Amino acid sequence: MMKTLATIAIFSSLALAGCSKDNKTATKQDTAAIKKETKRADSHAPANAEPGSHEDWCGEHSVPESQCTRCNPGLVAAFKATGDWCDEHGLPESQCLKCNPELKIVRPPPSEPAKPQE
Ligand SMILES: [Zn+2]
Ligand SMILES: [Zn+2]
Repeated sequence: MMKTLATIAIFSSLALAGCSKDNKTATKQDTAAIKKETKRADSHAPANAEPGSHEDWCGEHSVPESQCTRCNPGLVAAFKATGDWCDEHGLPESQCLKCNPELKIVRPPPSEPAKPQE
């Protein structure tokens, strides 16, 4: 019984490690972008923002900071590789409002720690 539990724990921590590896790459680029634009840092995600979270948001371009090719040009190749790229507008197709006027990129709501309600 104990052995099974331990195996499960190892597997899930491996899965987590896989995820955080990807996150780290994006975070590194975020840090570089933020350093370059310290003046507008408040409209950009902190370097430790979790991709997909409320904090992971580029206020300047209204997309998740971890997917903002305008702040992180290093992401462009990854979008092109998946075919999610609009050559005409130099944006990921999934972020191109000119080609997809109906597109709405919504910032995830903040995940607040459970607060005691009155
Ligand atoms: Zn941006
Ligand atoms: Zn386009």
